[in-house]
Formats: sequence, C-alpha cells, structure tokens
Amino acid sequence: MDRSGVFIEQTEGDVKQSVLGVVSYLRSFKAPVYAFVICDTPGTFVKELGKWGIDTIVEIQVTDTESRMNPQLVSEMVVQAMYRTGVKYLFGTSSAEGRDVLPRIAALLEASLVMDCTKVDPKEGTAVTSNYSGKTEAQIKFSGRFHVFGMRPNYYKPVMADITPETMEIRPEIENHTGIRFQEVVDSARTGVDLTEADVIVSGGRGLKNGENFSVLFDLAEELNGAVGASRVAVDEGWVPYTMQVGQTGVKVNPKVYIACGISGSVQHFAGMKTSGIIIAINEDENAPIFQNCDYYVVGDLFEIVPHLTRKLKQAAQ
Ligand SMILES: Cc1cc2nc3c(=O)[nH]c(=O)nc-3n(C[C@H](O)[C@H](O)[C@H](O)COP(=O)(O)OP(=O)(O)OC[C@H]3O[C@@H](n4cnc5c(N)ncnc54)[C@H](O)[C@@H]3O)c2cc1C
Repeated sequence: MDRSGVFIEQTEGDVKQSVLGVVSYLRSFKAPVYAFVICDTPGTFVKELGKWGIDTIVEIQVTDTESRMNPQLVSEMVVQAMYRTGVKYLFGTSSAEGRDVLPRIAALLEASLVMDCTKVDPKEGTAVTSNYSGKTEAQIKFSGRFHVFGMRPNYYKPVMADITPETMEIRPEIENHTGIRFQEVVDSARTGVDLTEADVIVSGGRGLKNGENFSVLFDLAEELNGAVGASRVAVDEGWVPYTMQVGQTGVKVNPKVYIACGISGSVQHFAGMKTSGIIIAINEDENAPIFQNCDYYVVGDLFEIVPHLTRKLKQAAQ
C-alpha cells in the first residue's frame, strides 16, 4: 500500500485523542504512517505524538495565527506536505474541523473523499460509511491517485506503539489569497469538553423546555467530566448553539456513555450517536421510541432524575 498520512487536529494546543485512534488504526495497514501537524515552533508535538506509532512527524511550520486558523490555507499547506512526502492516502476525523478541512484537501487534490468512515480497505479500494440516517452501512468503492477519509471520531482507540518517529520540517509558501479572515476563537460549551472527544455525553432535547434548563445537564456533565449535546429541536428553538447538535445533520459522536434526556429517539438523532458504548435514556413517556434502542432507561421526569444523579455523584466524590 502507498504511504498514509494523518491530519493532526488540535484543541487548545493539545493533540486530540480521537485522531490518535486513527493513527493506531493505520498501523494495521502495515505501511509507513506520516502525521501532518501545524505548529509554530519545531518540536512542539514530538513528545506527544512520539508514542503512538507514527513513522514520520511532518511539522508544518506556520508562525502567524491567522494562517493557522484559516481552513483553506491549512488545506493548501497539507497538500504541499503530501506532495513533498509522497503520501497518497490522507486520514482525519469527521469532526467539525475535519469536515472543514478534509473536503477542501480532497478538492485541491481531485481526490476521492469518504466521510464518517468506520473502515477503509486500501487493497480492495473500499470504505465503509453509514447511510440513510445510520440505518444501513454503505460500502463505497474509491479510485484515483489520491484518497481522503474522515473517520468517525473515537471509533478507534489510541494504542501506544514502540516506534521512535523521524521528524521532518516543512515551511510552506503561504499567502492569504482567500476571503477568510480569522477573528477569534469562542468556546461555546460551558464544560469545555469537546463532543467528539468526550467519553461521556449528556444530551437534551425538547423535554428541556428552554435554554436555561440545560444547566441541569451541564451540572451532571461536570460531575462526569463529560460534554453536553442536544437534539435538533433544542438547537432549532435557539436554546443551545448548533455546535452541540448530535445527529444526521449535526455532529457524529462515539462516547463510552451517552445519556439522552427528554429526547424521543428519532432516526436522525440516532444517526449521530448509535455507535455509543452504552446508551441511557431518561424520558417521562414509557412508550418513547428511544427505549427500544437503548441499553438502560429510566421512566420519569428528567428535572427530578438528573439533579438527583448529580447530587449522588457529588456525594460519592466527597
Ligand atoms: C433531514 C432531517 C435531519 C435531521 N437531523 C437531526 C439531527 O441531526 N439531530 C436531531 O436530533 N434531530 C434531527 N432531525 C429532527 C428529528 O427528526 C426529530 O424531530 C428530533 O430529533 C426530535 O427531537 P427531540 O427528541 O428533542 O424532540 P421530541 O421528538 O419532541 O421528543 C421530546 C421527548 O421529551 C420527552 N419529555 C418531555 N418532557 C420531559 C421531562 N420533563 N422529562 C423526561 N422526558 C420528557 C417526551 O416524552 C419526548 O419523548 C432531523 C430531521 C430531518 C427531517
């Protein structure tokens, strides 16, 4: 197989764990793995990336924040690095950042692109992704010279490997010819835990009734070191930002535990969370469809159950 590369996503200066799971998956291809990481100083990520089985860390050095935050320029820099290293298969995750950058890279390379993949078979030239709101799996045949894949975040867990990587520095030629201007980074989630990275997600739907009531979910998530998600109804009502929407037209998540509160369990919502390790539903309607598809459920008023859970967790932690 040709060389494969991973686009390393970062959050607040750290490498995202979900992308390290992709590195571990690529080791099974038995071909050299390159990691493309944008950094301002050489060596920034060598220690952090060095233990996961990467053969070559390609440091794409960019000193100005404006360029690092511009998805079009980042895509162009990664493409330059791919040409320099001869990488033909590029992997990332289908997180918000991955969905911003990977399709741009594919367009620049005229490459095949498959997002939300759970499996890629380079020998057969096929990739598996979900279809029809997660009801079916599609096997996509890809062809051409270059290939780009957005893997489902957290689908593969990072496994350490005993390989000392080489490093390579690239200083790309960049000029902001795009209409995109970076202004500021705004953290929209109170807990600060990224949905695609979280081991535990507490999500709320129409049952929350308004935006202020989401505080009961944030309190529980804080105790669990988790993130808070939402159904589309909660987003459409303006209670929470779109970045929190889980589902077919929102973010796809894969936590160990997903707690759905006041969510009925539509196919579109399941499309974003059905691969969670354990699904727990809290709903006052004993006939709620979500009860047919979860591991555990509680029939009752979320405004009693969720604060009760939070209190119990607080007591246990003391
Ligand atoms: C093309 C398309 C794309 C879509 N994409 C998405 C998507 O990405 N994500 C998504 O979520 N939806 C999506 N939807 C919308 C989806 O079809 C549903 O309308 C939506 O998921 C329903 O949200 P909900 O479960 O919060 O609301 P509802 O279906 O109204 O359910 C609310 C639930 O809350 C329960 N409840 C009420 N009060 C309480 C209480 N006090 N305690 C406990 N339970 C209570 C009720 O019993 C009910 O089961 C999409 C739809 C379309 C057509």
